Amino acid sequence: MKKDKVKDSLLKYELIIKLSLSFFFIAIFCLIFFLGGGLVYFKDVLYVDQFQNYDFQIHVIDVGQGDSFLIKLPNQKTLLIDSGEISSSNILINYINEYFIKENLEKIDYLLLTHPDADHIGGAYEVLNNFNVETIFRPKIYSIYEYQNLSILNDYVISESEIYNKVITKAYEDDCSLVFSEKGIILNEAGCKIEFLSPDIDKYSDTNNYSAVIMITYQDKKFLFTGDAGIEIEEQLIKNYGEYLKADVLKVGHHGSKTSSSLEFLKIVNPKYAIISAGENNSGLPNVEVLNRLNDLGISRLSTQEINNFAITVENNDITIAFQEKPVCDMALISAIFVVLLLFVWGCKFKWFYASK
Ligand SMILES: [Zn+2]
Repeated sequence: MKKDKVKDSLLKYELIIKLSLSFFFIAIFCLIFFLGGGLVYFKDVLYVDQFQNYDFQIHVIDVGQGDSFLIKLPNQKTLLIDSGEISSSNILINYINEYFIKENLEKIDYLLLTHPDADHIGGAYEVLNNFNVETIFRPKIYSIYEYQNLSILNDYVISESEIYNKVITKAYEDDCSLVFSEKGIILNEAGCKIEFLSPDIDKYSDTNNYSAVIMITYQDKKFLFTGDAGIEIEEQLIKNYGEYLKADVLKVGHHGSKTSSSLEFLKIVNPKYAIISAGENNSGLPNVEVLNRLNDLGISRLSTQEINNFAITVENNDITIAFQEKPVCDMALISAIFVVLLLFVWGCKFKWFYASK
């Protein structure tokens, strides 16, 4: 009788331990699962470090659906083109943080907000919150804050976008220098030239066409960034610049949508590489016609959908690219570990624990 009682109480101990451990593991699993993007914290290789301390580096940051490119200029200045969606701001901030530490950098000298769409400026508030930003190039579109507070306004459009308003308001609070992007602006940075080719008028009917289009020249290599500028802008660029548009690397307009990348434009730019920044499982982006056009012209595709973060530099007068492999099985791996842990908990007798009781 007494023996049965002891056995019952031992079983009770065992059950309590198993239940407690199971709840503990399940709680941790849920936390990781629901934090989702938080998985990136487990990786210390976010930053593509193969070109560490190189004078000139372009980092294409995989922010899912959206654009974000971090560029180190030869004089240690930095240029960030766009900041992805708000939902990927953690990824962006972590990348820049890690990069700044490894490269011994302190601030973002230039932040270029190509146009006010959320997949380009969504992370900018967090960028301003986390880093010292000196100059912001922004579209000729006023925020609500400016409409309400500036005494003199140009005849520019006013955006009702909340995130745009938040970013511009924060820029005023932080005393950043705000500059309207326009054709003709040139920055010369120790042998690296950044030239604004568009916009060349003050008003467009399509927000995408406000996109700043910039040509970066380093040594004899050229990099063309087009934001989400549409085919009408590409036509205008051809009219204004013709053969000057020839570049080694083209950031394909509007995430590979067929509203950009006309055959004529691709032929005149004639890049060796085409960067496409777009989200995974993204219905229709990049567009298959655009991909075929790139293939037919023999242009190599560098897509964040396929290769996660990557970096570009110029080495011995040639373009060199470093890749980071895509972490595909994170969640599967973590799920498997938790299943094994739970099986272990329920298979274990815990005699070592309650034998002394
Ligand atoms: Zn976009």
